[in-house]
Amino acid sequence: MEATTYKLNVEEIRKDFPILHRQVNGKPLIYFDNGATSQKPRQVIDVINRYYQHENSNIHRGIHTLSQEATDAYEKARKTIQQFINAQHHHEVIFTSGTTGSVNLVASSFGKKHIQAGDEIIISTMEHHSNIVPWQMLCEEKKAILKVIPINDKGELLMEEFKRLLSPKTKLVTVTHVSNTLGTINPVKEIIKLAKAAGAFVLIDGAQAVPHTKVDVQELDCDFYAFSGHKMFGPTGVGILYGKEAILNELPPYQGGGDMIKTVTFEKTTYNELPHKFEAGTPNIVGGLGLAAAIDYMNKIGITNIEAYEHELLNYATEKIKKIEGVRIIGEAANKASVLSFLVDGIHPSDIGMIIDKLGIAIRTGHHCTEPLMNRFDIPGTARASFAFYNTKEEIDTFILALERALKMLL
Ligand code: PLP
Repeated sequence: MEATTYKLNVEEIRKDFPILHRQVNGKPLIYFDNGATSQKPRQVIDVINRYYQHENSNIHRGIHTLSQEATDAYEKARKTIQQFINAQHHHEVIFTSGTTGSVNLVASSFGKKHIQAGDEIIISTMEHHSNIVPWQMLCEEKKAILKVIPINDKGELLMEEFKRLLSPKTKLVTVTHVSNTLGTINPVKEIIKLAKAAGAFVLIDGAQAVPHTKVDVQELDCDFYAFSGHKMFGPTGVGILYGKEAILNELPPYQGGGDMIKTVTFEKTTYNELPHKFEAGTPNIVGGLGLAAAIDYMNKIGITNIEAYEHELLNYATEKIKKIEGVRIIGEAANKASVLSFLVDGIHPSDIGMIIDKLGIAIRTGHHCTEPLMNRFDIPGTARASFAFYNTKEEIDTFILALERALKMLL
């Protein structure tokens, strides 16, 4: 394995990911679809196995030993997540089903409390559908107005346009930290500062940021921050909504049910404290434990090492792919995470995806749940390779050869 400039023992890391050792269509798997979901290390899989074999019980309800152990483990997981994003309080960390669940929670609860007819919500052109549709639904219900920050041809937000969109009517600004389609890392700190100066609340969609870069919610000073476990080496079906204590305390509950209540009579129900007020019903307990195990794993490698190594992979792949005739990279922002979206003149991206899948290489093709962004570039979709810290330059070399072979067949 080629030595990298950074202290990352990728050969050893790869041993922790059982799936990376399987074959696909008779070839060693090369997994470049990390933007869709990441693979899971043995340390996460073991936690899930152990939980169901030895620890399974419901939480916050029983006085028996198993229930108390499960409750302690779940609340410990919350603290691991709190530390990871540097939230001030552990009760500012709400377990959800994922980024989509988190955004919908804010759209519902924040929407009920703060949005009225004529109010404005600002999103950006590069949002994932999960950070578009809930706001469209809310705007329709409340007769509020959705405004969209435009981008340039490189895939960067036009910050001057954003400033012009802000007004006393702006109640919420919500943008993605990192674009899943373009890889653009948005200047969220500046966006948050500008939005706050205009008196708006801010939600950041961190689905593609948290797996690759250090996130400090106190330093960012955002009101809400959403992310998914499965994109950061944890299980599916679990995610987080971070919210500032004072703001969450003021919001009405999202869903009603067990755990989110203090007392219930047929005449009146009183609600539980944070974070339980927003966690109705039995949660994805093992998901929370698996997510904490994934964070422990990432912490062991070091998020700055991860970021630096992935940056090196991105640069390496970008240089190589640029040398292939007819390739057009979609997303050339100055500040980019390890996402490489591209098109080849005259070829449909899904044809490329299908051919290289036969060679054991998994990339994503299509609109990546960002249809309005595809419309902005006037394209039907892209082929997307997205890298994680367990990928290697050798894999990129194989991918480039496979791509060249596919293009020869298709052109
Ligand atoms: N936001 C971004 C930027 C994403 O990339 C994704 C998933 O691809 C989501 C939100 C939705 O995440 P989930 O499906 O885990 O809720």
